[in-house]
Amino acid sequence: MILPIVLYGDPVLQRRAEEVPADFPGLDELVQNMFETMYAANGIGLAAPQIGYSLRLFILDAELADETLYKDEKRVFINPLVLEENGETWPYAEGCLSIPEIRGDITRRATIRLRYEDAQRKVYEETFDGMLARIIQHEYDHIEGRLFIDLLSPLRRRLVQKKLQLIRNGKLRPEYKHRPR
Ligand code: ZN
Repeated sequence: MILPIVLYGDPVLQRRAEEVPADFPGLDELVQNMFETMYAANGIGLAAPQIGYSLRLFILDAELADETLYKDEKRVFINPLVLEENGETWPYAEGCLSIPEIRGDITRRATIRLRYEDAQRKVYEETFDGMLARIIQHEYDHIEGRLFIDLLSPLRRRLVQKKLQLIRNGKLRPEYKHRPR
């Protein structure tokens, strides 16, 4: 089922999300719906707060970001914890399904090491780099209540203020299914 995506201005996007309990009911269905929702909106990652669930859960499909580098990189991250971030910083023009029509260069570190549970609730520790690390960092920010626009340079941030206001007021809407503002 395709769920409505929550847009900028909704407080759930700025809240630190809660741990997913071990006995959380309907987790498989929620994850399945998140993938359907992400694909329908042409996204490469989606965090639970973006569909209105304040939970520490996100998904991604890196193949959609770079099909030559990644194959079958459908991933589910439950209750992830950043263990460390390392390497050179690099800029990349990020966007977000909750903030339509805005992109901006965000500088992040090259590698990230995480502890997380997969959809079967098995615990892993793993290091990621490249686009995979980038998407994880963006989605991890979501469950911390942080958006990529919070990390823009002050100048760029000023330049997107008007568009942000339009999204907030429900006057700038994406074509994919979203929760009306
Ligand atoms: Zn996002």
